[in-house]
Amino acid sequence: MDLLNTLVEKGLRRELPTREEALAVLATSDDELLDVVAAAGKVRRQWFGRRVKLNYLVNLKSGLCPEDCSYCSQRLGSKAEILKYTWLKPDEASQAAAAGVAGGAKRVCLVASGRGPTDRDVERVGKTIEAIKEQNEGVEVCACLGLLSDGQAERLREAGADAYNHNLNTSEATYEGITKTHTYADRVDTVQKAHAAGLSACSGLIAGMGETDEDLVDVVYALRELDSDSVPVNFLIPFEGTPLAKEWNLTPQRCLRILAMVRFVCPDVEVRIAGGREVHLRSMQPLALNIANSIFLGDYLTSEGQAGQADLDMIADAGFEVEGAGTTTLPKHRADALAAAGATGGCGSKASAGCGSEASAEGGGCGAHAEEGGGCGPCGGHAAPAAPASSPARTADEARTDLVAVRRRGAGTDLAPNA
Ligand code: SF4
Repeated sequence: MDLLNTLVEKGLRRELPTREEALAVLATSDDELLDVVAAAGKVRRQWFGRRVKLNYLVNLKSGLCPEDCSYCSQRLGSKAEILKYTWLKPDEASQAAAAGVAGGAKRVCLVASGRGPTDRDVERVGKTIEAIKEQNEGVEVCACLGLLSDGQAERLREAGADAYNHNLNTSEATYEGITKTHTYADRVDTVQKAHAAGLSACSGLIAGMGETDEDLVDVVYALRELDSDSVPVNFLIPFEGTPLAKEWNLTPQRCLRILAMVRFVCPDVEVRIAGGREVHLRSMQPLALNIANSIFLGDYLTSEGQAGQADLDMIADAGFEVEGAGTTTLPKHRADALAAAGATGGCGSKASAGCGSEASAEGGGCGAHAEEGGGCGPCGGHAAPAAPASSPARTADEARTDLVAVRRRGAGTDLAPNA
């Protein structure tokens, strides 16, 4: 198929495909799906081998957000019965982070719901970053706190942050239909502030909110333009109690095509399967590892993912390896660019600038929280309960509400986290 050969060649050269080529990937048929995955896999292996990076979300502050992101379970007016709590103390956050690191995660993503941090919040998170770095040697830390004001990115970097996550979520054309309390331009500005401060910029999208193929291509081209080091791809979890609760329009095949399009348009960046992985990809998750080189281990911000051990088993069974703390995630040209930008690059030492460079978590308050029902933090959702023998065969586009589980363990609770 000439399209795929062309896209592979361009991906190996980091050459931008045309919009028509990107749209054509989304329009491929189910019969061509394995060819699409195989082609994207060649580009993935060129830049990231067979490594899978594990990232771990810590929800520092849950719910109670004044913003109205319509996909988010933490939004103003949300009726979703999620955990609601204010700031975790540095030692509580560090304890939660340690569970993820023990489970194999090399990056901890600190997320707080809200429009954006006050200077006092930045100071508080700075202390949390220092505590986590002190207790987890070599760990990378990403912050995701919402819209940044001048100087805040620099202070987070001075406190040891390696990356900052703030998703664009969807195309500029449709942004106002998703959120009215802040703008697409606000988001772009925050990603640029993170970049300018020498933090590794992490910015991604949410698919499944009723957008068109053109919207998806628009937002991914915008992420390439912003030169994000990592792109979390969230698949909307239609959370009961949010305006998008009825928006079930994804299939595992559609999710794989979207991931492939992102890989071809952003060949050398960390493509992360973020929120909705378990709910929408289901038994096709291992196939998606051929395209994406990064996932979240454990639970999401307000919803539960599959067991951490199940993720590790899946990675091994699919013939991939968990990326070690000492391995540089980003390709050399990106790692060098980050080091040149003065980023501490994850491991706090300029020398290893490359190892830590991309961002995190997608998800969570601050609009980065794409995962929660697309909101804040991928709502993983439990493994599907076995369907009773008598139930009719499911269809790929069926609303799998049975897989959406509100988080009831880990940060903000007395129960051990999933890691
Ligand atoms: S995505 Fe972030 S800013 Fe938007 S409602 Fe959720 S927590 Fe608030």
